[in-house]
Amino acid sequence: IQVSAFDLVVFGGTGDLAARKLLPAMFQRDRAGQLPDEGRIIGVSRRALGHDGYLDFVKKSLSTYVKASELEPEALKRFLARVHFVPVDVTGESGWPELASLLASGNEAVRCFYFAVSPDLFAPISERIGQFGLITDHSRVVLEKPLGKNGESAHAVNEAVGKVFNEHQIYRIDHYLGKETVQNLMALRFANRLFEPLWNSTHIDHVQITVAEDIGVGDRGGYYDTSGAMRDMLQNHIMQLLCLTAMEPPDAFEADAVRDEKLKVLKALKRIDERNAEHMTVRAQYRAGSVGGQPSAGYLEDLGNDTSSTETFVAIRAEIANWRWAGVPFYLRTGKRLTKRTSEIVVNFRPISHNIFDATAGRLSQNRLILRLQPDEGVTLEVTIKDPGPGGMRLRRIPLDMSFVETFGVSNPDAYERLLMDVIRGNQTLFMRADEVAAAWQWVDPIHAAWAHNDQRMHTYAGGTWGPSAAIALIERDGRTWLEDS
Ligand code: NAD
Repeated sequence: IQVSAFDLVVFGGTGDLAARKLLPAMFQRDRAGQLPDEGRIIGVSRRALGHDGYLDFVKKSLSTYVKASELEPEALKRFLARVHFVPVDVTGESGWPELASLLASGNEAVRCFYFAVSPDLFAPISERIGQFGLITDHSRVVLEKPLGKNGESAHAVNEAVGKVFNEHQIYRIDHYLGKETVQNLMALRFANRLFEPLWNSTHIDHVQITVAEDIGVGDRGGYYDTSGAMRDMLQNHIMQLLCLTAMEPPDAFEADAVRDEKLKVLKALKRIDERNAEHMTVRAQYRAGSVGGQPSAGYLEDLGNDTSSTETFVAIRAEIANWRWAGVPFYLRTGKRLTKRTSEIVVNFRPISHNIFDATAGRLSQNRLILRLQPDEGVTLEVTIKDPGPGGMRLRRIPLDMSFVETFGVSNPDAYERLLMDVIRGNQTLFMRADEVAAAWQWVDPIHAAWAHNDQRMHTYAGGTWGPSAAIALIERDGRTWLEDS
């Protein structure tokens, strides 16, 4: 179904995010027939490009990030006809009147301002948008991560944008929420009889959430060093996954109902601070190693700075203090230069309460539900069955596997495709509300403070491994193991 007429104004229209994600996503939706004729994409940046210069940028981006077989000449032509460009220095006055008059020609269209620029610019851009009277009844704004470096700076961003836009117009993007498997987690939990009755501490032993990258910081080192694994990945993506895994059933699949339940999870997280951070958290930096058979450099070498104390890996044993989850650890970890690129949520069920099989039947395994977010999105439910054959009752754990590509014969659309369409449709369900962001920082800030206060040890790990031995110890001291070791 087509979305309504829209103007998508991309501030940072010549940036990496626009090239890699936003333009290709809009192109794919156009190919799929979802964009109406009255849909325009307006690139804005301070680069002094003319219209043709910007079209060249768009063509180059698409030829780099869209498969050649999908770049049909007709589709490309139709897409390019939607594209406009206005050079604006967002901190100055020039260019704004031109943008205003271009937008005026779109009158009743849904107006989406996408801030694909550094967060320092969110406040000045919002201010100018207000000053030039660009906000209509159908306007919305999309904020990219990072939303602050801590609670205080996130609050400042929300305040500045909130002076001009109402909360129901603000879309804080976390592209993890646009991933099919993540939405499927909600479908699995709330559209099946099977899981929800077991989804609590009586039946679940523990949960693991891993977001692993095999790449290092590459040329993003300058930015990354001011952030680190906790701010770059854990505070946003992992905590969002945690919320969707642990939240109570919302009364409707509707933005505020879902976000209210996520917020309750964040508020129920047990505080980690200088008294227990050393026990509950591990931070580490990668050293030289080998990824996929290739030698890899260490973080300090990649960065060209041998004094950095920014973590490239973090593991946390989190607990949610409420009736559903009391006593169930949530082991969270993320890092760069790990063994492979993978993101997954692993729900480990408790053992059966009584074993009727004798010792020759073999080891009785616990059920596991694995939701893979990348690279190959899918869901696996591990169950114990009888090994086939006449050899007696031998038990074996096998996966009931569902790979989206295999089942549906198509690869999943990129998360940005779904999210951009939701913005135009005005659906905030998969976007973070200001109070969620604040609550996530309220849990993360004391951990950062504790690391500094205790001068907590920075562990190291060789590139291409699953992180420092301390992260293995974190889970093994509870008598459990990470998925790859089990
Ligand atoms: P980038 O440096 O490649 O692009 C920045 C863009 O902002 C350029 O188009 C530049 O012309 C424009 N710009 C900068 N100053 C300006 C000014 N004064 N007036 C007008 N335009 C100005 O950055 P990026 O990688 O595209 O990232 C943009 C934002 O998105 C950042 O907040 C980043 O953290 C976030 N983000 C990026 C990615 C990614 O994959 N690149 C992923 C997630 C989030």
